[in-house]
Parts: sequence; C-alpha cells; structure tokens
Amino acid sequence: MIKRLLIANRGEIAVRIIRSCREMGIETVGVYSTADADSLHVRLADRAICVGPPPSAKSYLRRESLIMAALHSGCEAIHPGVGFLSENAEFARLVQDQGLIFIGPDPQVIELLGDKVEARATAQKYGLPVTPGTGAVDPAADSAGGPGGSGGVEAAAAKLGFPVIIKAAAGGGGKGMRIVHNPADLAENIRIAKYEAQANFADGTVFIEKYLENPRHVELQILADGGGTVAVLGERDCSVQKNHQKLIEESPSPGVREEMRRAMRAGAVPLFKELKYRGAGTIEFLVENDAFYFMEVNARIQVEHPVSEFVSGVDIVRQQILACTEGRMELDPAGVDLRGWAMECRINAASPGKISRLEIPGGPGVRFDSFLYTGCSVPPQYDSMVGKLIVHGRDRPHALARMNRALEELRIEGITTNINRQKKILNHPGFRSGTFGTSFYEKIQEEIEKEPQNGH
Ligand code: ADP
Repeated sequence: MIKRLLIANRGEIAVRIIRSCREMGIETVGVYSTADADSLHVRLADRAICVGPPPSAKSYLRRESLIMAALHSGCEAIHPGVGFLSENAEFARLVQDQGLIFIGPDPQVIELLGDKVEARATAQKYGLPVTPGTGAVDPAADSAGGPGGSGGVEAAAAKLGFPVIIKAAAGGGGKGMRIVHNPADLAENIRIAKYEAQANFADGTVFIEKYLENPRHVELQILADGGGTVAVLGERDCSVQKNHQKLIEESPSPGVREEMRRAMRAGAVPLFKELKYRGAGTIEFLVENDAFYFMEVNARIQVEHPVSEFVSGVDIVRQQILACTEGRMELDPAGVDLRGWAMECRINAASPGKISRLEIPGGPGVRFDSFLYTGCSVPPQYDSMVGKLIVHGRDRPHALARMNRALEELRIEGITTNINRQKKILNHPGFRSGTFGTSFYEKIQEEIEKEPQNGH
C-alpha cells in the first residue's frame, strides 16, 4: 500500500478523497490556493501546501507546482479528483514521468476517450450504438466524415435531420455545445463553435450529432483494475439538468428496464476490458424510447458517484486507489449487489460569501458531502457547487420522502443556495412520476424559479 498521496483538487471532492485515504491508512497532502487557505480540505489533510499565488483561479491547474509539491512532500501518487486536471493526459504523463502514480487510467486511454470524435469511433468499433452523427466537420474544407459522407457539412446535417447539436470534440462540463434548428443557421454556428472550442479547449475540432428532443441521460459507473477485470456498479439517471449541467441524480434509473440495463452493460464491459481501463470511469448514454446511444466516457471519478456507493455499498474512491496503485480491487465484478434507491441533490451557491450557520441533516440513509463549516467562506473563483445531499431508501418513494426530510433539515445561512428550488423540483409531478427527460427542467424552469432563492 502506498504511504502518502497528493490531492490535486479542492472543495468537497478533496475532502471525499481524504476520507477514504484516512480509512486506508494513506497520509494525504492537500494543495490550496491563497483563496482557499481556510478551506476544510486544508484542515483535514495531514499536510497542505500552497500552490496558489494570485490569480488563484489558476492554482489548481499549475501542473509543475502540483508535481513539485508531491515530490517534495514524499508522495507516491497524485489523485486529480474531478474537473481541473482530472482528464488531462499531458498532466497524467508528467506525473508518471516523475515516477509518481496517477490515480486514473493510462494517459493514452485518457487521450482517446477525451476526444469525443475518437471515443465515438472506438465505441462503434466495439458494437455500441452511438447517437447518429458525423466525424469532425470543417465547412472551410467542406468535408464531413461519418454517415454524412463527403457531401459537405450541410448534406450531412440534412441527412441527420434538424435539430442538430454541434459539439466540441474536446468539450466538457456541459460547455461547447450549440443546438441548431434551421439549416440556414448551420454554417455560422459551426464557425462560432469552432472559435469557442479553440478558445476554451485549445482544440477547434467540432462534430455534429442529431439533437434528441427529450432523451434520458443514463450512465454506468465502472470500476476496473487495469488488468481486464471490469465491474459495473449499476446505472445513474442524470436527466434533471439546467443548461446541460446535472442537478439531481438517482440510481437506478426510473426509465430503464432490465433488458436495456443488460444491453448497456454488455456493450460497455468489452470496451473497458479492451482498453485495459484502470480505476473509476463513467460511460454516458442518451436513452430515447427503447434505444440507447453512447455519448461519451468520463475517465475519472464523478460528482454523482455517491448514489452508486449507496446502492452498491462500495467505496468507489477506495477501490479506485487500490486499482491504480496495486492493480487489484476488493470486489467481485460478477457479484456486485445493488440494493434500494439512491438520490443526490446538488447544493449550489447563488453567490459567494461567508457561512454564518450550518445545520447538517442526519439519520438513516442520509449523507452530506461538502466542504462547508460554520464560519467558512465560499470563494468566488470556483465552481458554485458547495455540497451534495445524498439519500438511500428502500425504493423510489422512500428515497423521495427521505430526500424531502433531509432537505428540510439542511440549513445553510450566510449565502443563497438552491435548496428550496431542489425541494420544488423533487415535488413536481413530472419528477415524482419518473417519466422526465433532459429537457424537463427547461419546461418547469419558470415555475421553479419564479420566487427569488433564499438562504435555507
Ligand atoms: P459534457 O461532456 O459537456 O458533459 P455531454 O456530451 O456529456 O457533454 O452532454 C451533456 C448533456 O448535453 C447531455 O446530458 C444531454 O442533456 C445534452 N446532449 C448531449 N448530446 C445530445 C444530443 N445529441 N441530443 C440531445 N441532448 C444532448
């Protein structure tokens, strides 16, 4: 077992990783920006190193500083968490070049999966259905790959049928996507999308997919040991989204039947086996009626992993670290037993500020993952998510009742949060019925957001 690990991240995910490491007897080294000096992960880590002279927004992206901190503090491994450098193949390579273990798959695998065009082609190679779409498109060269053939971008899009969605090959986090309803707007939108992709992701490659009007977002939680053993910890439904950003996640999905569940799993496992995938990963699908389509793989732990932890009873971070440091996991891939129903509400801050009062819910089947404590500050530089409230119940009605009572108990004062809005979504008939898709929130947005948010 490794003795010491550096966490190249902040906030609740850094706290989450520290918790597993402590149980495993692994010492943790935290890093922090000057804006985060009083953050909970800094207090909980065995040691913390400042990598953040202003501007602190960039601190957690300073690759050399992070690696230097790991080397100087005697760490053997680096855990990238989520976001920041978690899917950066070049960072993973730099880490390995210094003789450190990167908690994640091989850099080549990150690279392959990080390019959505390549990932789609790879998925197709393994027989997975992908959302109808093209390869990389470039109207300047007037060529389009994939099913559109060489008839030009317009012809390829017409063949898919409007609306279509233009995506950045290197995009992520719900950014870099443009929906086009009208053929006349296509060329202009591709031009803008390419420009934005280049500016945001340093790669102007874009491609086109058929835009599905109201699909479900369903994803499988994967854990793999790097030697071909692949476990699936069930699926998560992440269809409640605002501007393509997930708000509520649950497992299992209320819209997936056993037959589809089995088909998804049967399609996904060979892909991860063949890639010799290592650690935690997620394969995302869009589901429409009885069909499912591969969307992408996220080669890292995900924000919504606790819902899978609740239904499987597996500590995903622990298994991820074991897989990446020792090539083994403490679970039988054939025997993952999924029980009950889990649900997560993301708690977002509407604005930065100081937490004047915090009351955390408890009781059976309730978990609150957060970096908040009374008196702490939520800095303006980072993600607006300040915590995740996760519950586990016997079945969906039980999980819903539990989430309702946990949201009632949760009090965060000093900043404005989305707690009340989450309650409203949860109790909306559309959500309760379980029949919603990814455009559900847009349809109820006005109703949910008509009153100003408050701080409870
Ligand atoms: P990111 O990597 O930025 O998270 P994804 O490819 O995972 O982007 O897509 C995020 C969300 O965008 C999906 O959950 C879905 O709501 C929407 N989306 C993506 N592709 C399509 C599509 N072809 N049709 C309809 N919605 C889509």
